Amino acid sequence: MKAIQIARLFVPPACAGCGSACEPERSVCAECLRDLDLSGPIHDPPLPDIDAISSVATHSGVGRSILSAYKFNGLFGLAPFIASRMSEVAPATGESGCVVPVPAAGLRRRLRGFDTAEDLAERLSGWTGLPIRTESLVRIGQGRQRGKGRSTRLADPPVIEAREVHDGVVLLVDDVVTTGATLAACARSLRESGAAGVLAVTFTRRV
Ligand SMILES: [Zn+2]
Repeated sequence: MKAIQIARLFVPPACAGCGSACEPERSVCAECLRDLDLSGPIHDPPLPDIDAISSVATHSGVGRSILSAYKFNGLFGLAPFIASRMSEVAPATGESGCVVPVPAAGLRRRLRGFDTAEDLAERLSGWTGLPIRTESLVRIGQGRQRGKGRSTRLADPPVIEAREVHDGVVLLVDDVVTTGATLAACARSLRESGAAGVLAVTFTRRV
C-alpha cells in the first residue's frame, strides 16, 4: 500500500459528502446523512435469477460523492459507514446464507490496488454474521461495464463463472448497480452451481 493510501486510512474531519467541516468521529455530516436517507433505500424489481436487489441511495449527490471518495480518493475509512448502511437495507438471506462479492475485472483490481466489492462484502459479512466466500465467482476476460452504454451493457454482459458449489441463499455485494447485467450474470452462475436463491445489495443505484 502506498504511503498516501496509508495516510488516508484515517478519514479527515471533513464530510465525504460535501467537504464541509465535520465532527472528528463522523465521516458524513448530519445534512448529508439526511440527503442520503431521502434518496433511498431503493428496492429494484427482481431480475431473472435474482429475487431482490436493494441499494442504499441513488448514484447521485451525496451517495455518489461518498462512494467516489472511498473508491477513487482512497478514503478507506468510509468503508465501515458504507457497509453498515448496506447491511441495514440488505434483503434477508436466512441463516444458511453467505456473502459473495461481485468479481472485479483483473485489470481494474490491479489498477486500483484493492477491490471495493470484496472490501465491502468482508465488512458486510462482519455486520450480518454471514460467512463470506470470496473465491466463489471469477470474471473471465478483462471486460468492464463502466464506460459502456446502457444498451451495450445489456446486450454484452460480462462472463462470470462459479468456482464453488452452493446450497443456501447468496447475498451478492457490489458498490453500484446500473443495468443489473453484471449482477444477473453472477446470479445465473450461482444458480447453476446450486444456490437456492440469490439476493443483491449495493451502496448506490444509477437511475
Ligand atoms: Zn456533508
